[in-house]
Amino acid sequence: MMHLAFLVLLCLPVCSAYPLSGAAKQEDSNRDLAQQYLENYYNLKTDVKQFRRKESNLIVKKIQRMQKFLGLAATGKLDSDTLEVMRKPRCGVPDVGHFTTFPGIPKWRKTHLTYRIVNYTPDLPRDAVDSAVEKAVKVWEEVTPLTFSRLYEGEADIMISFAVKEHGDFYSFDGSGQSLAHAYPPGPGFYGDIHFDDDEKWTEDASGTNLFLVAAHELGHSLGLFHSANTEALMYPLYNSFTELARFRLSQDDVNGIQSLYGSPPASTEEPLVSTKSVPSGSGTPAKCDPALSFDAISTLRGEYLFFKDRYFWRRSHWNSEPEFHLISTFWPSLPSYLDAAYEVNSRDTVFIFKGNEFWAIRGNEVQAGYPRGIHTLGFPPTIRKIDAAVSDKEKKKTYFFVEDKYWRFDENSQSMEQGFPRLIADDFPGVEPKVDAVLQAFGFFYFFSGSSQFEFDPNARMVTRILKSNSWLHC
Ligand SMILES: [Zn+2]
Ligand SMILES: [Zn+2]
Repeated sequence: MMHLAFLVLLCLPVCSAYPLSGAAKQEDSNRDLAQQYLENYYNLKTDVKQFRRKESNLIVKKIQRMQKFLGLAATGKLDSDTLEVMRKPRCGVPDVGHFTTFPGIPKWRKTHLTYRIVNYTPDLPRDAVDSAVEKAVKVWEEVTPLTFSRLYEGEADIMISFAVKEHGDFYSFDGSGQSLAHAYPPGPGFYGDIHFDDDEKWTEDASGTNLFLVAAHELGHSLGLFHSANTEALMYPLYNSFTELARFRLSQDDVNGIQSLYGSPPASTEEPLVSTKSVPSGSGTPAKCDPALSFDAISTLRGEYLFFKDRYFWRRSHWNSEPEFHLISTFWPSLPSYLDAAYEVNSRDTVFIFKGNEFWAIRGNEVQAGYPRGIHTLGFPPTIRKIDAAVSDKEKKKTYFFVEDKYWRFDENSQSMEQGFPRLIADDFPGVEPKVDAVLQAFGFFYFFSGSSQFEFDPNARMVTRILKSNSWLHC
């Protein structure tokens, strides 16, 4: 009975859009779709009394609310744009309702969280599922003080599982399409948990439903974020509005949201004083023309220069004088930020990235399999915990690693650390200040970066030829 009343009400706007009576069947299915959608995601109560009196007003308002939230014109009518959006695959968590009824703003009261992958989808190899989840975790780890570790048994804060249809909570999945996954906000027991609808075709790329993107979105819920009406945001509820995979990045809206709950990531304790100063308070975005700017690491990449700073890097090519500015995670979602060192080995078309006692290998925008590896596999003694800077001499096929006031030399041909090292930087690179942040080889010179200063070193003359500002490469 109630269902009928609802259909009659929705008939008016729908009829104006489809004036021909032959479309009646289509109208029925549109109305069914709209009713289900508003019930699922906009808390439309299927209550008869409520319908009798305030129905038209209520439903128009619900449609408007949905249109507004999803970035459509708030006509209150089931126009074709609205129906199209209602057919798109999306997150199963409502845009309003349920979670808003919890008292307070749920968040984790600790900064170290555990997750466990309870079961797997048959769509993907297990390690593909593992790495999609790991990448998704990193997305949030990078912009918060939160850290995560994976459990293989027992109860984790965030239990991750694949299920179909009715699966033990109040939110049955709906087969292929529409609702893709859902997650519970922070708390004990089932709270924080993530369920993926295994009637979807989960994929590593964008050919089906990309597991990494949905996992990253659901993790946002597990950490306490609700949906965002910002269409750029990862937390926007519709799936195909997520950013193209290779260019994935959190929007500023997502970062603002999660930092409102947990704050910013702690500044690296190894950062020199100048660098801390160069980060404008609040925004956390480094400015290229800040006279105090220092770099974490610098590398070449296929003829371009990459200048890493905090979560970001500037990318400068020879033919484009204006450097581009990107989040590291936009290009390499699994790389850490606040890097220690980076260098390119041209002959292998590979850039090596160092942070702490680990390093990664990247080729173009692909992080290579089998990384990170421990820096000690390169031949460093166990006392070395991190590298300050590194550069690979393209002609001589030697890579230099700088650690405090010493340096090591690695032979790229024999792939081994050379005998007779470490040596003192001051002995072999006179005039260069030790505690090197980054080194770049260009035009036959080595450029040593230390805080906001840069030393141009001529290896043939064995002397510093110029002292420049570190950001001279960024056209300030
Ligand atoms: Zn969601
Ligand atoms: Zn569920």
